Amino acid sequence: MVYLDHAASTAPFPEVLDAMLPWFQPCHIGNPSSIHSQGVSARHAIEKAREQVAQMIGADPSEIFFTSGGTEANNAWFRCLTKHIVLTDEIEHHSISEPLKNACVCPLPVVMKYARVWSDGSVDMDDLERLIIENKKALGAVSVMWVNNELGTVNPIKEIGTLCKKYDVPFHTDAVAAAGHVPIDVHAYNVDFLSLSGHKFGAPQGIGVLYISNLIRKEPWVYGGGQERGLRGGTENVPGIVGIGKAAEIVTKRLPRQMAQWAHLRDVFLNELSVEMDGEFHINGDTDRRSSAIISLTLPGVNSESLLLLLDQQDIYLSAGSACSASDATTSHVLRGIGLSEESVACTVRISMGFDTTDDEMRQAAQGVASAAHRLKAMYS
Ligand code: PMP
Repeated sequence: MVYLDHAASTAPFPEVLDAMLPWFQPCHIGNPSSIHSQGVSARHAIEKAREQVAQMIGADPSEIFFTSGGTEANNAWFRCLTKHIVLTDEIEHHSISEPLKNACVCPLPVVMKYARVWSDGSVDMDDLERLIIENKKALGAVSVMWVNNELGTVNPIKEIGTLCKKYDVPFHTDAVAAAGHVPIDVHAYNVDFLSLSGHKFGAPQGIGVLYISNLIRKEPWVYGGGQERGLRGGTENVPGIVGIGKAAEIVTKRLPRQMAQWAHLRDVFLNELSVEMDGEFHINGDTDRRSSAIISLTLPGVNSESLLLLLDQQDIYLSAGSACSASDATTSHVLRGIGLSEESVACTVRISMGFDTTDDEMRQAAQGVASAAHRLKAMYS
């Protein structure tokens, strides 16, 4: 099997599963809010994980709040808005754009305004600054994703943080595709809110994080027993939290080596593909700042759905756009947002590497893509 859809979901590290396992067993099943020693040990485990996650992103542990995933984090920070305009761009994940259409998420009737993006998927900084100046009086926040989950393009987060600081505007970034893939330092980059999702960096599905800077006045988003320092009520997902903490520790240690490995694997794939089908494909996104774990590949004249089905029969798993919108009949708003024609969007696949992807898998994927694409082209002609 060649699974190259890790940007949709990657397997937990074995060490993460080992760390989680005890927290499912009767001797460790205490509720973290209980004052007996079982509860206290669960509470300690949560606080250790909070420190591990804080270390991964350069935050203080008191700024880390556990959620059920990236979507919840992307919904939750809107509660802290004190002014009603949010500046963003049109190629963010749906969990940024959809909540704002829904009155129950936001205390304010939010208006979203969109900065232009370049054809490589990075935000146009001049346009962003122009919009900040134009909307300054009513500007609640800027929200720009760290790494685009369909393109792998890395936004200039440090520059955006500096700009937001200059104009005193809170800055949120969806770092779901960034964690474990690029260095993150929220304090150095002036980030006020940041969203994470465990299953993108070696923790299980169903656990995430919202970082909120201590400089921000915080508002709860789930009411109940006052857990997570009053912001998110409900008994904590102790095994998931332990898992995301362990995953954060592992990816922080692995990061420099891992980034070099992904750059190498990317070359292996593209070299092999060039041998098989030179001049028959192009790569979307930015070549300089791209997170090299994601390759967005357009194969003109090759329908991506047909290609994915043929590859599936060979046990090769890629995706067309992001998994979250795969059931959506409309085509990728990200690819359309960077100016690809409908035809090119329909001919684009995403190859996303995991933490243990091998050279051989990349070669097999390139050969599989080339032979399936040639088969389809022969059928159409
Ligand atoms: N943001 C980005 C960039 C994502 O890729 C995803 C998941 N595909 C999310 C947010 C949502 O995360 P989750 O699935 O954990 O809710």
